[in-house]
Amino acid sequence: TDALLQIEHLSIDLPGPAGPVRVVDDVSFAVAAGRTTGLIGESGSGKTMTATAVIGLLPAGAEVSGSMWWQGEDLVTMAEKDRRRLRGRAIAMIFQDPQSALNPTQTIGRQVGEILRRGGMPKQEVRQKVIDLLDRVGVPDPRTRHAQYPHQYSGGLRQRAMVATALAGSPQLILADEPTTALDVTVQARILALLRRIREEEGMAMLLVSHDLRVMAHVADEVVVMYAGRLCEIGPGREVLSSPAHPYTRALVVSVPAVRSRTAIAEPLPGSPASPADRPSGCPFHPRCAKARAVCRTEVPQMRQVAPGRQVACHFPEET
Ligand code: SF4
Repeated sequence: TDALLQIEHLSIDLPGPAGPVRVVDDVSFAVAAGRTTGLIGESGSGKTMTATAVIGLLPAGAEVSGSMWWQGEDLVTMAEKDRRRLRGRAIAMIFQDPQSALNPTQTIGRQVGEILRRGGMPKQEVRQKVIDLLDRVGVPDPRTRHAQYPHQYSGGLRQRAMVATALAGSPQLILADEPTTALDVTVQARILALLRRIREEEGMAMLLVSHDLRVMAHVADEVVVMYAGRLCEIGPGREVLSSPAHPYTRALVVSVPAVRSRTAIAEPLPGSPASPADRPSGCPFHPRCAKARAVCRTEVPQMRQVAPGRQVACHFPEET
């Protein structure tokens, strides 16, 4: 296959006050080269933890099992020094809050160019490359602005600078964790358009983590829906968001009217997200699911194919 990253049976346990908590449970999916895969879920779904495992920045004490195949190497068992070699280069990350991800005491140009300098590129070349990168992500007047500090940038420009930082290492995969959540709506749309353009121009893959279905509808080729650390549904973004097979995906979609039509009335999701520390038995979504029957409380639904390219973990999936 053309999978750039193949995640197989990934489970992550984090230490908790009452023993380890399984925050990601038996998750498998692939990120295809040159495509955007969207990881969707509410808080506690394990989506951010999954992305964090890929970049190798899990909190201390995390126990990981399963595999994450990257060009024939397993990121799970890879030595830390090899993982560090990938980080920021082949695999780069864009964070939710550029304000805290950028160093306030260093110029933007210095931060964008850091990976190039560390790679031994001469100073003058780094400067030119940084200016080119800032120009490519739409920072105006990069010849002047590369020498400015983060506080002299607006929120949207800071996020553009973060994108430039990620691009500096010529990555094959960009992980973007809620890249637009901290921005206001009009700036969000521009950053999404930028991410889409950059992905198309560079032919790189993107793993986009978001709770926001409007973001997903804009950019994701494939989507992976997670709930309480488990997989719910995988499939082409357009199909999954227009005809969800899993009741949870369906509930998410109808809670955001703009995803389906401009006029529909939003039906808020009932109840609150299950916590992985207190995961309900059987299907973890059963306390919130209108379709739940007795078997849902006792038997964990396994992922199975319901249509070509579409997998669902539900005892009673919707027709697709
Ligand atoms: Fe609802 Fe049962 Fe499907 Fe879970 S397995 S989503 S509870 S119908």
